[in-house]
Amino acid sequence: MSVSCIACNSRETSLIGKLPVFTPDFLGQPLDESIDAGSLYRCGNCSLLFRWPMPSPETLLAYYGGLDKDEWWQHEPGREVWRYVEKELRHLPAPSVLDVGCFRGNMLREIGANLSCFGAEPSPGARREAEAHGITVIGDSIESLREEERRFGAITLIDVAEHLPRPLESLQILSGLIAPGGKLLIFTGTTDAISWRFARQDYWYCAMPEHVAFFRPSWFRWAAGQLGFRISSVKRLPYQPVAFRRRAKETLQNIAFIGYQRVTRSPKLAYVLLRLPMINRIANWQSCWWTSARDHILVTMTKDTVS
Ligand SMILES: [Zn+2]
Repeated sequence: MSVSCIACNSRETSLIGKLPVFTPDFLGQPLDESIDAGSLYRCGNCSLLFRWPMPSPETLLAYYGGLDKDEWWQHEPGREVWRYVEKELRHLPAPSVLDVGCFRGNMLREIGANLSCFGAEPSPGARREAEAHGITVIGDSIESLREEERRFGAITLIDVAEHLPRPLESLQILSGLIAPGGKLLIFTGTTDAISWRFARQDYWYCAMPEHVAFFRPSWFRWAAGQLGFRISSVKRLPYQPVAFRRRAKETLQNIAFIGYQRVTRSPKLAYVLLRLPMINRIANWQSCWWTSARDHILVTMTKDTVS
Protein backbone atom coordinates (compact mmCIF):
# COMPACT_ATOMS: atom_id res chain seq x y z
CA MET A 1 0.00 0.00 0.00
CA SER A 2 1.36 3.41 -0.91
CA VAL A 3 1.88 6.09 1.73
CA SER A 4 0.02 9.41 1.38
CA CYS A 5 1.91 12.69 1.60
CA ILE A 6 1.40 14.47 4.94
CA ALA A 7 1.11 17.85 3.18
CA CYS A 8 -0.81 17.34 -0.08
CA ASN A 9 -2.29 13.81 0.43
CA SER A 10 -0.85 12.69 -2.93
CA ARG A 11 -0.13 8.97 -3.20
CA GLU A 12 2.67 9.77 -5.61
CA THR A 13 5.28 9.04 -2.90
CA SER A 14 8.44 6.97 -2.94
CA LEU A 15 10.48 5.34 -0.18
CA ILE A 16 14.03 6.68 0.29
CA GLY A 17 15.11 4.50 3.22
CA LYS A 18 15.01 3.62 6.90
CA LEU A 19 15.72 6.49 9.31
CA PRO A 20 18.42 6.39 11.98
CA VAL A 21 18.10 7.71 15.57
CA PHE A 22 20.94 9.84 16.98
CA THR A 23 19.17 10.87 20.19
CA PRO A 24 19.89 8.98 23.45
CA ASP A 25 16.17 8.29 23.95
CA PHE A 26 13.07 8.15 21.73
CA LEU A 27 10.85 11.11 22.65
CA GLY A 28 11.62 10.51 26.32
CA GLN A 29 11.14 6.72 26.07
CA PRO A 30 14.00 4.22 26.32
CA LEU A 31 15.56 3.52 22.95
CA ASP A 32 15.41 -0.20 22.24
CA GLU A 33 15.07 -2.66 19.37
CA SER A 34 11.25 -2.51 19.39
CA ILE A 35 11.19 1.20 18.47
CA ASP A 36 10.26 1.93 14.85
CA ALA A 37 11.75 5.31 13.94
CA GLY A 38 10.05 5.14 10.54
CA SER A 39 11.36 5.64 7.03
CA LEU A 40 11.97 8.67 4.85
CA TYR A 41 9.55 9.23 1.94
CA ARG A 42 9.52 11.76 -0.89
CA CYS A 43 6.36 13.26 -2.37
CA GLY A 44 6.48 13.55 -6.16
CA ASN A 45 3.69 16.14 -6.13
CA CYS A 46 4.71 18.82 -3.57
CA SER A 47 8.42 17.84 -3.08
CA LEU A 48 8.13 17.29 0.69
CA LEU A 49 10.24 14.63 2.40
CA PHE A 50 8.63 13.13 5.49
CA ARG A 51 8.93 10.48 8.19
CA TRP A 52 6.46 7.58 8.04
CA PRO A 53 5.22 6.11 10.25
CA MET A 54 5.64 9.03 12.62
CA PRO A 55 4.76 9.58 16.28
CA SER A 56 1.14 10.75 16.70
CA PRO A 57 0.52 14.52 17.03
CA GLU A 58 -0.58 13.86 20.65
CA THR A 59 2.68 12.03 21.44
CA LEU A 60 4.72 14.86 19.92
CA LEU A 61 2.80 17.59 21.77
CA ALA A 62 3.07 15.69 25.07
CA TYR A 63 6.83 15.40 24.50
CA TYR A 64 7.25 19.14 23.85
CA GLY A 65 4.96 19.97 26.79
CA GLY A 66 7.17 17.85 29.03
CA LEU A 67 10.38 19.68 28.13
CA ASP A 68 11.95 21.49 31.03
CA LYS A 69 12.69 25.14 30.31
CA ASP A 70 16.41 24.46 30.78
CA GLU A 71 16.53 21.15 28.90
CA TRP A 72 16.24 22.41 25.38
CA TRP A 73 18.88 23.76 23.04
CA GLN A 74 20.65 26.75 24.45
CA HIS A 75 21.45 29.54 22.05
CA GLU A 76 24.01 32.22 22.46
CA PRO A 77 22.60 35.72 22.47
CA GLY A 78 22.51 37.06 18.95
CA ARG A 79 21.89 33.85 17.03
CA GLU A 80 22.73 34.44 13.36
CA VAL A 81 19.23 33.79 11.97
CA TRP A 82 17.69 36.29 14.41
CA ARG A 83 19.55 39.14 12.67
CA TYR A 84 17.84 38.28 9.39
CA VAL A 85 14.47 37.88 11.11
CA GLU A 86 14.93 41.30 12.72
CA LYS A 87 15.46 42.91 9.31
CA GLU A 88 12.29 41.31 7.96
CA LEU A 89 10.30 42.62 10.94
CA ARG A 90 11.18 46.28 10.26
CA HIS A 91 8.41 46.97 7.79
CA LEU A 92 5.14 45.35 8.76
CA PRO A 93 1.53 46.38 8.18
CA ALA A 94 0.92 46.05 11.96
CA PRO A 95 3.55 46.37 14.77
CA SER A 96 3.02 42.90 16.22
CA VAL A 97 4.69 39.49 15.94
CA LEU A 98 3.66 35.99 17.02
CA ASP A 99 6.54 33.55 17.56
CA VAL A 100 5.23 29.98 17.31
CA GLY A 101 7.33 27.66 19.49
CA CYS A 102 8.76 30.71 21.28
CA PHE A 103 10.10 28.58 24.15
CA ARG A 104 11.59 31.01 26.73
CA GLY A 105 11.03 33.91 24.34
CA ASN A 106 14.76 34.47 23.76
CA MET A 107 14.41 35.65 20.17
CA LEU A 108 11.64 38.19 20.79
CA ARG A 109 13.37 39.44 23.92
CA GLU A 110 16.32 40.30 21.74
CA ILE A 111 14.77 41.60 18.53
CA GLY A 112 11.16 42.50 19.37
CA ALA A 113 11.72 45.81 21.22
CA ASN A 114 9.55 47.91 18.89
CA LEU A 115 6.80 45.33 18.46
CA SER A 116 3.96 43.85 20.52
CA CYS A 117 5.28 40.34 21.15
CA PHE A 118 3.11 37.23 21.30
CA GLY A 119 4.06 33.58 21.58
CA ALA A 120 2.70 30.03 21.44
CA GLU A 121 4.53 27.37 23.44
CA PRO A 122 3.70 23.88 24.78
CA SER A 123 6.27 23.77 27.63
CA PRO A 124 4.69 25.35 30.77
CA GLY A 125 8.07 26.21 32.35
CA ALA A 126 9.36 27.89 29.20
CA ARG A 127 6.00 29.66 28.74
CA ARG A 128 6.18 31.17 32.23
CA GLU A 129 9.67 32.50 31.53
CA ALA A 130 8.56 34.04 28.23
CA GLU A 131 5.63 35.72 30.01
CA ALA A 132 7.93 37.02 32.73
CA HIS A 133 9.80 38.83 29.95
CA GLY A 134 6.72 40.58 28.58
CA ILE A 135 5.67 38.13 25.88
CA THR A 136 1.92 37.43 25.75
CA VAL A 137 1.55 33.67 25.32
CA ILE A 138 -1.75 32.95 23.58
CA GLY A 139 -1.67 29.18 23.06
CA ASP A 140 0.27 25.95 23.50
CA SER A 141 0.09 24.73 19.89
CA ILE A 142 -0.90 25.86 16.40
CA GLU A 143 -4.17 23.93 16.83
CA SER A 144 -4.99 26.02 19.91
CA LEU A 145 -4.88 29.20 17.77
CA ARG A 146 -7.83 28.22 15.52
CA GLU A 147 -10.22 30.62 17.30
CA GLU A 148 -7.68 33.43 17.77
CA GLU A 149 -9.14 36.79 16.71
CA ARG A 150 -6.02 38.97 16.76
CA ARG A 151 -4.19 39.60 13.50
CA PHE A 152 -0.40 39.94 13.47
CA GLY A 153 2.04 41.87 11.33
CA ALA A 154 4.23 38.75 11.22
CA ILE A 155 4.36 35.16 12.44
CA THR A 156 7.70 33.41 12.93
CA LEU A 157 8.49 29.68 13.08
CA ILE A 158 12.15 29.18 13.94
CA ASP A 159 13.18 25.49 14.11
CA VAL A 160 9.48 24.57 14.22
CA ALA A 161 8.24 23.59 10.71
CA GLU A 162 10.18 20.29 10.74
CA HIS A 163 8.08 19.26 13.78
CA LEU A 164 4.70 19.68 12.06
CA PRO A 165 2.84 16.40 11.34
CA ARG A 166 0.43 18.22 8.94
CA PRO A 167 2.53 21.15 7.69
CA LEU A 168 0.15 22.70 5.15
CA GLU A 169 -2.82 22.55 7.55
CA SER A 170 -0.73 24.24 10.26
CA LEU A 171 0.37 27.00 7.88
CA GLN A 172 -3.25 27.46 6.79
CA ILE A 173 -4.28 28.14 10.40
CA LEU A 174 -1.42 30.62 10.82
CA SER A 175 -1.93 32.36 7.49
CA GLY A 176 -5.45 33.34 8.62
CA LEU A 177 -3.92 35.20 11.59
CA ILE A 178 -1.64 37.39 9.47
CA ALA A 179 -2.74 40.90 8.49
CA PRO A 180 -2.91 41.63 4.72
CA GLY A 181 0.61 42.47 3.55
CA GLY A 182 2.05 40.74 6.67
CA LYS A 183 4.80 38.13 6.73
CA LEU A 184 5.25 34.47 7.58
CA LEU A 185 8.89 33.67 8.38
CA ILE A 186 10.07 30.05 8.52
CA PHE A 187 13.56 28.82 9.42
CA THR A 188 14.04 25.09 8.81
CA GLY A 189 16.28 22.55 7.07
CA THR A 190 16.34 22.38 3.28
CA THR A 191 16.56 19.03 1.52
CA ASP A 192 18.20 20.53 -1.57
CA ALA A 193 21.41 21.32 0.40
CA ILE A 194 24.46 19.49 -1.00
CA SER A 195 25.10 17.79 2.36
CA TRP A 196 21.54 16.48 2.48
CA ARG A 197 21.54 15.23 -1.09
CA PHE A 198 24.74 13.35 -0.30
CA ALA A 199 23.50 11.82 2.97
CA ARG A 200 19.82 11.23 2.16
CA GLN A 201 18.15 9.15 4.91
CA ASP A 202 21.42 9.01 6.89
CA TYR A 203 21.37 12.78 7.43
CA TRP A 204 21.70 14.18 10.98
CA TYR A 205 18.58 16.31 10.58
CA CYS A 206 16.39 13.22 10.00
CA ALA A 207 17.91 11.41 13.00
CA MET A 208 15.81 13.19 15.62
CA PRO A 209 12.47 11.34 15.97
CA GLU A 210 10.57 14.61 16.55
CA HIS A 211 11.64 15.87 13.11
CA VAL A 212 8.92 14.64 10.77
CA ALA A 213 8.73 17.04 7.78
CA PHE A 214 11.57 18.17 5.54
CA PHE A 215 11.23 21.00 3.03
CA ARG A 216 12.99 22.71 0.16
CA PRO A 217 12.32 26.08 -1.54
CA SER A 218 10.05 24.48 -4.15
CA TRP A 219 7.79 23.20 -1.37
CA PHE A 220 7.37 26.73 -0.04
CA ARG A 221 6.60 28.01 -3.55
CA TRP A 222 3.90 25.36 -3.81
CA ALA A 223 2.57 26.16 -0.29
CA ALA A 224 2.60 29.93 -0.93
CA GLY A 225 0.28 29.36 -3.90
CA GLN A 226 -2.09 27.34 -1.69
CA LEU A 227 -2.08 30.03 1.03
CA GLY A 228 -2.40 33.21 -1.03
CA PHE A 229 1.14 34.32 -0.21
CA ARG A 230 4.20 35.08 -2.32
CA ILE A 231 7.79 34.18 -1.47
CA SER A 232 9.64 37.44 -0.87
CA SER A 233 13.03 35.97 0.14
CA VAL A 234 14.91 32.71 0.71
CA LYS A 235 18.15 32.99 2.69
CA ARG A 236 20.49 29.99 3.03
CA LEU A 237 22.21 29.60 6.41
CA PRO A 238 23.73 26.88 8.59
CA TYR A 239 21.90 25.81 11.74
CA GLN A 240 24.92 26.89 13.71
CA PRO A 241 27.75 28.87 12.09
CA VAL A 242 31.23 27.82 13.26
CA ALA A 243 34.86 28.53 12.35
CA PHE A 244 36.19 27.04 9.10
CA ARG A 245 38.32 24.37 10.83
CA ARG A 246 35.39 22.91 12.74
CA ARG A 247 33.22 23.03 9.65
CA ALA A 248 35.86 21.15 7.65
CA LYS A 249 36.23 18.57 10.44
CA GLU A 250 32.47 17.96 10.66
CA THR A 251 32.30 17.63 6.87
CA LEU A 252 35.05 14.98 6.76
CA GLN A 253 33.59 13.07 9.70
CA ASN A 254 30.19 13.01 8.03
CA ILE A 255 31.55 11.86 4.69
CA ALA A 256 33.23 8.96 6.54
CA PHE A 257 30.17 8.16 8.67
CA ILE A 258 27.65 8.31 5.83
CA GLY A 259 29.94 6.41 3.47
CA TYR A 260 30.28 3.75 6.15
CA GLN A 261 26.49 3.48 6.60
CA ARG A 262 26.11 3.08 2.87
CA VAL A 263 28.72 0.41 2.19
CA THR A 264 27.87 -1.66 5.25
CA ARG A 265 24.33 -2.13 3.97
CA SER A 266 25.97 -4.72 1.78
CA PRO A 267 26.75 -7.62 4.18
CA LYS A 268 29.63 -8.91 2.06
CA LEU A 269 31.31 -5.50 1.92
CA ALA A 270 30.73 -5.01 5.66
CA TYR A 271 32.49 -8.33 6.36
CA VAL A 272 35.61 -7.10 4.57
CA LEU A 273 35.54 -3.48 5.77
CA LEU A 274 35.06 -4.25 9.45
CA ARG A 275 38.44 -6.01 9.40
CA LEU A 276 40.14 -2.68 8.65
CA PRO A 277 41.01 -0.93 11.96
CA MET A 278 40.29 2.59 10.66
CA ILE A 279 36.85 1.60 9.41
CA ASN A 280 36.18 -0.34 12.57
CA ARG A 281 36.51 2.89 14.55
CA ILE A 282 33.62 4.44 12.60
CA ALA A 283 31.53 1.36 13.45
CA ASN A 284 31.58 2.53 17.08
CA TRP A 285 30.15 5.97 16.32
CA GLN A 286 26.54 6.11 17.47
CA SER A 287 25.87 9.40 15.72
CA CYS A 288 27.49 12.09 13.63
CA TRP A 289 26.04 15.61 13.86
CA TRP A 290 26.55 18.10 11.05
CA THR A 291 25.06 21.31 12.45
CA SER A 292 27.60 23.50 10.63
CA ALA A 293 26.41 22.46 7.15
CA ARG A 294 24.72 25.18 5.11
CA ASP A 295 21.49 23.20 5.10
CA HIS A 296 18.88 25.64 6.46
CA ILE A 297 16.72 28.29 4.84
CA LEU A 298 14.93 31.32 6.19
CA VAL A 299 11.88 31.68 3.97
CA THR A 300 9.87 34.90 4.05
CA MET A 301 6.35 34.73 2.61
CA THR A 302 4.27 37.86 2.24
CA LYS A 303 0.48 37.75 2.37
CA ASP A 304 -1.42 39.28 -0.54
CA THR A 305 -2.93 42.63 0.34
CA VAL A 306 -6.25 41.71 -1.26
CA SER A 307 -7.77 38.27 -0.84
ZN1 LIG B 1 2.98 16.12 -1.17
